[in-house]
Amino acid sequence: MVRFARILGFFLLMPMALQAQDSAYARRVIRDLTAPSMYGRGMQNRGDSIAANYVRNELKSMGVKPLCKNYYQYFYFPNTTSRPPIVKAGYRSQNVCGYIPGESDSMIVFTAHYEHLGMNGDTIFFGAHDNASGTAAVLDLARMISGQDHRHYTYVFLFFGGEESGLIGSGFFADMPLVKMNKVKLLINIDLFCGGDEGLMVVNANDCATKPYVDMLDRINEERGYAAKIGRRDNAPNSDHYFLSQFCPAIFIYTLGGPYGGYHSPTDTCDGCGLGNYPRFLTLIRSFLESL
Ligand SMILES: [Zn+2]
Repeated sequence: MVRFARILGFFLLMPMALQAQDSAYARRVIRDLTAPSMYGRGMQNRGDSIAANYVRNELKSMGVKPLCKNYYQYFYFPNTTSRPPIVKAGYRSQNVCGYIPGESDSMIVFTAHYEHLGMNGDTIFFGAHDNASGTAAVLDLARMISGQDHRHYTYVFLFFGGEESGLIGSGFFADMPLVKMNKVKLLINIDLFCGGDEGLMVVNANDCATKPYVDMLDRINEERGYAAKIGRRDNAPNSDHYFLSQFCPAIFIYTLGGPYGGYHSPTDTCDGCGLGNYPRFLTLIRSFLESL
């Protein structure tokens, strides 16, 4: 009887745990952010600003509070000669910044860049994997956290512009932070979140400030098998966690393996973006948050 109850319990709990999270909201956000009316979320036709306004409206609709006036932290592109001129010097863009207060002023920060490469002539770079998917995941987390009755930590959600041109938005935030960086317990950057058949990779996983968190993530995953594996890399200036990792424990999570449509190519479309693993990945992150 005990054995039967255990088995029954197992079968009852497993689907429930997975049903608690689905990919419907993420799919909608990825489809919206990759629409031709977003022009690849770059400089052409101010696609980046159209996307920023979309993200801001999502935050507003969830009741996420603005971290600065109208959620926007403006910045200007510098003269960048070392990279392809995706964006003109002096072009104004913005980071979209919100928060959900908790009982503690200790903060968990989520970040994702919402902008992408824009257009080359008439060709749109849709950027579903890079990084409509990470933007969708962070918005989805904001949506779930805003629905909780009780929160210990204060949650901060930063959506950066200027990533593709050299981490310009997140670099600006690191210089002009809107939160007390010494109150940040952990920063999680999500960039490239379609697919993931081979698991997840964590960048800046081996630092003494971040390793205990990655160990915890790994332990939860080992117990419950959400991702095929969790890989670890040293820190690298390959996404928006990089400049912020000087001031707080910061990790960058991306998926390993497909399916996704392409990388920095017009084939990186919504239809190419597989979200089969997404519910398990979000459940992993939520389980991890509960254990912090
Ligand atoms: Zn990216």
